[in-house]
Amino acid sequence: MSALFVNCLSQLDKAAKVINLDKNIHEILKNPDKILTVYIPVKMDDGEIKVFTGYRSQYNNALGPYKGGIRYHSNVSLDEVMALSFWMMIKCATVGIPMGGGKGGVIVNPKDLSEGELERLSRGYIQKIWREIGSDKDVPAPDVYTNAKIMAWMRNEYEKLSGHSDPGVVTGKPIADGGSEGRESATGQGGAYCARELVKKMGWEGKQITVAVQGFGNVGGYVAKILHKMGFKIVALSDSQGGVFNEDGVDPYKAEKIKKAGGMLGCYCLGSVCTLNQISKDGPCRFISNEEILELDVDILVPAALENQIRADNAPRVKAKAIMEMANGPTTPEADEILKAKGITVVPDVLANAGGVTVSCFEWEQNLKNEHWTEVEVLKKLEEKMTGAFAEIWEMKEKHGVDMRTAAFALAIDRVAKAIKF
Ligand code: GLU
Repeated sequence: MSALFVNCLSQLDKAAKVINLDKNIHEILKNPDKILTVYIPVKMDDGEIKVFTGYRSQYNNALGPYKGGIRYHSNVSLDEVMALSFWMMIKCATVGIPMGGGKGGVIVNPKDLSEGELERLSRGYIQKIWREIGSDKDVPAPDVYTNAKIMAWMRNEYEKLSGHSDPGVVTGKPIADGGSEGRESATGQGGAYCARELVKKMGWEGKQITVAVQGFGNVGGYVAKILHKMGFKIVALSDSQGGVFNEDGVDPYKAEKIKKAGGMLGCYCLGSVCTLNQISKDGPCRFISNEEILELDVDILVPAALENQIRADNAPRVKAKAIMEMANGPTTPEADEILKAKGITVVPDVLANAGGVTVSCFEWEQNLKNEHWTEVEVLKKLEEKMTGAFAEIWEMKEKHGVDMRTAAFALAIDRVAKAIKF
């Protein structure tokens, strides 16, 4: 697998040309401001100590405090965290929120930990980085396999160590702990606003739009459910164990019920929890692998899992008319070129999945002002941000004859560059 940060640098170079970026600023933007590597001793339930490795990359804070999630995954690496923090810088600037770019991660498979072990790991991570974070410095949030409960432990640990209350030190908290209405579904909701704008730009209004979603976690789950409610036809859904394809459409609510009952998504066609060999591999309703789902002939393909999914090797087989990136970094720069040559429109991650960090920013703002906004207010503000950014990027793309990613990066880098002081 190619190094992810290499992808960032090539995206940076491409956008730098469009805006004729100052070479000194370009040089600065090739590196993060600071990277922390920490080793976290955790007392496991059997009494033994296990040491986990964690990172926090603070990429750039020219536009505001470093901002970005913390990922718990066995494949977390320094390269990945650096790349993700770079994309957070671009993402925040793309939608125009007053935040910089950061990201954290711990090398762990959270499914192997008990609830108590998970809590001790989360508190242990904060014990190692608390001096470097705060609502005016660096504001973590959930990412892959982290959630509101973990954010509540982190806020609490930070406040114990620092000795003062700072609800805005992390976002994505439970409502009772200073969280915002609409935060949990915000990434999916932001994607849905983008899909609606995309339909208008493609001239697809009134048409039945087919969608395939790879990933059924917080992001993929909400985007599938919201698009389904809006009248899009979800024909395929998958998670890390593969998924389901149904010609007549997949109801993500039903799929979720099966998953919650302990079944695989492929059991959808049978309507209840089943074993792997009961799942049909052909027919109108069938099992689909994570590779196959990317190659379906649909209107919109939605990668909503992990990075590096669409690469030079499989991009030539992608048949979707458009791709909406709900994961971070699902398309490599080589694949981008292939998709562009095939005439496939890519709504890039830094726009499509920016709804999460946008509502995180709203949460931070509410915490700083000691306010609590209604869901209606939050959604109205989110819709404004997403549709505004979509329109700006589309205009930039038309003006410079580039793809949407290059347009978004050019817009974002210009904003960061103007704020950098050295
Ligand atoms: N982890 C999310 C992302 O990749 C949200 C980050 C945040 O809310 O700070 O955009």
